[in-house]
Amino acid sequence: MWQGGQQKKKYHLVKWKLICRPKKKGGLGVKNLRTLNISLLCTWWWRLEAGDGMWQQLVRGKYGIVGSIRHIQPNTNNSPLWRNLLKVRDFYLRGRKMVAGNGRNTDFWGDCWIHSQPLKELFPDLFRICEEQEVSVQYMHSRRWNFRFRRWLDCSLQEQLRMLHDLLFQWGPNADVDHPKWKWTKAGIFSVKSMYSHLTNRGPDRTFRHLWKAKIPLKIKIWMWLIWHDAIATKDNMKKQKWEGDYKCRFCSQNETIHHLFFGCDAAGYVWSIVSLIIGAQMRSNCFSQVFRWLPQHICVSTDVQVAGVAAICWAIWKSRNNACFENKWIKHPVDLICYTCVFLKYWAGLHKQADKEALLEGAAVLQRVALGIHAGEEAKMLEDAVTEPGS
Ligand SMILES: [Zn+2]
Repeated sequence: MWQGGQQKKKYHLVKWKLICRPKKKGGLGVKNLRTLNISLLCTWWWRLEAGDGMWQQLVRGKYGIVGSIRHIQPNTNNSPLWRNLLKVRDFYLRGRKMVAGNGRNTDFWGDCWIHSQPLKELFPDLFRICEEQEVSVQYMHSRRWNFRFRRWLDCSLQEQLRMLHDLLFQWGPNADVDHPKWKWTKAGIFSVKSMYSHLTNRGPDRTFRHLWKAKIPLKIKIWMWLIWHDAIATKDNMKKQKWEGDYKCRFCSQNETIHHLFFGCDAAGYVWSIVSLIIGAQMRSNCFSQVFRWLPQHICVSTDVQVAGVAAICWAIWKSRNNACFENKWIKHPVDLICYTCVFLKYWAGLHKQADKEALLEGAAVLQRVALGIHAGEEAKMLEDAVTEPGS
């Protein structure tokens, strides 16, 4: 691993991360101490949530924890141990769901409790306009699931609210204290090993192993990989590089982040909603890891086609965003993003073998039909022109 004698400077020939990767995955299986430490610290969160004894009451009292551990805010007076625990909290939260008893310690929107996904991911539109985003299940139940929304609900939101209520009315509180269940072990009990193994075989690599094989231009593959690693030049990332400018999204007035641009923004949400409509999904997807779990549940096409489809949507959003940023060319309607997506689908279809090529062309045709249906009439001609001109 290292070269050079004792006095000479040592050079790393292999990256530390590769050395730490399990042997089955081509690494050397050396434990990464930092990751091991994170996993060990997570044990504390599990102990705090899984028990209801003297120790738990002491800790809750000392740190003033009321309700869900999600709501604890860091404080400048915190001890070093507590600060470290707060740093690893998000890692822990990824692996735990809640079994709600009285609902007091369960976060209504953020925890997985009534469904395998958190409600804020199942109903992102309602969550966004809800005034109370950090509330317990107990509180919402005491309010008879009455929500305070910042604006009037249109038909589609009314429908979503009805679905949410259908789900909620299946649940009733009991006298038990809420307790956690661990997603990554069969018994549902936390283990350091499962946490460690999850951290070292992180999702992105698994989801994205198909990316490198996909039949899309290499430039796009690298760009998609960078998005996944939060490393493209969105304004929030530019800000970290001390860039000064307007941080606002070019499609709306919120701040631009990778998640916002590709999922959170109304423009992106519109595209994903149309895709949901076409593939017959009730919910739309809200992040990349979800997209690649969600698509195969609803459509029966090869992984290459799925990757090309997702990449086409993202690339269309990115190109439109850049046109607005650098050339002052704004989209007129989010449906333009769909037309742009079709351009890339058609263009990249040519890189695929026959069956996949047909699937991509058919996908583009369906999208285009829906988009044209929405635009109907006066703008149809312009869109036709836009989709016959392949660009990259
Ligand atoms: Zn936006």
